[in-house]
Amino acid sequence: MAKKANSSNHCSFCGRNEQEVNLLISGMTGYICDMCTEQAHEIVNESVKSSGKSDVGITFSSLPKPAQLKEFLDEYIIKQDSAKRFLSVAVYNHYKRLLQKNVQDDVEIEKSNIIMVGATGTGKTLLAKTIAKMLQVPFTIVDATVLTEAGYVGEDIESILTRLLQVADYDVSAAERGIVFIDEIDKIARKSDNPSITRDVSGEGVQQGLLKLLEGSIVNVPPQGGRKHPDQKMVAVNTKNILFICGGAFDGIEKKIAQRLNTRVVGYAASQQNKDIDKDNMLKYITPLDLKSFGLIPEIIGRLPILTYLEPLDREALLRILVEPKNSIIKQYQKLFSMDGVSLTFEKGACEYIVDKAIEFKLGARGLRSIVEAIMIDAMFTLPSGDKKKLHVTRNYATNQLENSDLHHLRVA
Ligand code: ADP
Repeated sequence: MAKKANSSNHCSFCGRNEQEVNLLISGMTGYICDMCTEQAHEIVNESVKSSGKSDVGITFSSLPKPAQLKEFLDEYIIKQDSAKRFLSVAVYNHYKRLLQKNVQDDVEIEKSNIIMVGATGTGKTLLAKTIAKMLQVPFTIVDATVLTEAGYVGEDIESILTRLLQVADYDVSAAERGIVFIDEIDKIARKSDNPSITRDVSGEGVQQGLLKLLEGSIVNVPPQGGRKHPDQKMVAVNTKNILFICGGAFDGIEKKIAQRLNTRVVGYAASQQNKDIDKDNMLKYITPLDLKSFGLIPEIIGRLPILTYLEPLDREALLRILVEPKNSIIKQYQKLFSMDGVSLTFEKGACEYIVDKAIEFKLGARGLRSIVEAIMIDAMFTLPSGDKKKLHVTRNYATNQLENSDLHHLRVA
């Protein structure tokens, strides 16, 4: 390992001796002074720039284009075209922003954080997780419900960046280019549209704290997270280039959208306009104004300029989710069985039955797995030790299995 040199030695690069420099570091066969180290550092930076590579190793030509990103998302996620397009473009632009220092002009591309609104279980987290698979930057998912203002029970806002630092292996400059998905952002909404007179611990204060992160500032982050290690040395993280993607169900926001749509125009024009409104998918018409009525503070909304929505998933979409995605639930069970040499197939009627039950139990896409699990549990228990090499799940088989299972358990899954 390099160590400090003694007096008669000189820098192998510039020839200065120890008296002429601040520091001389010895290597295996020579020495380097502090000035040459700095110069070498600059040369390395310059060469990285001229090679068109950012210091995260991304080149413009190797960037996946938005259409490619969306194609990848299509393999795993059913529907949600609008959200997929916005997300793909935002991620692509994020990369471009990371590369922009190579451009010699005054135009600075600012980041555009995203907010995705959609009922629970429609694929927000899945979208974020799936895009993360393609990313070459640190990525983390955090839950806004655990965040509280400093000094209250819960996690400080800075803990969001602790997670990012951890996935970046504590490489601060990598973390400073990362992407953070903040789930359940709606849970930190103000309880009413009016600014509160009393302190709103769970809502507005947290939003104010979050604002600091979203708008880009230098934040002192406890590298070990939480308040369990009060003596740890804080790490300064600049959030200027961190992309934030927020997601939330915003339960009841449809009503606010409907109200706005109805009150905006009255009379004949209104009835004409209302005719074209897709009442099953009110989120389509969401605007930043609706987020404000829901209780997000205008400053936060301003820092989340890209607003997109997720569609509700109907029966047909649920059927597709069951079988189509690259790692669909059915494909996962087929893989599990094939490891025991058993070929597993599902009758169409069985799939329809599973979907109908998910709708009946009001579990949506999230319920599909627990229903399939309940249907398959007996077979998963007995087949590995038997001789049977085939299982065809019919509607009848599925019905019998589910009816003999603990339905009550499913309702709360
Ligand atoms: P959200 O974050 O919107 O509450 P999730 O992304 O966690 O919902 O979805 C829960 C599960 O439901 C996913 O893990 C996935 O199995 C399934 N799912 C939901 N939406 C979709 C979709 N559009 N395409 C494929 N699977 C989906």
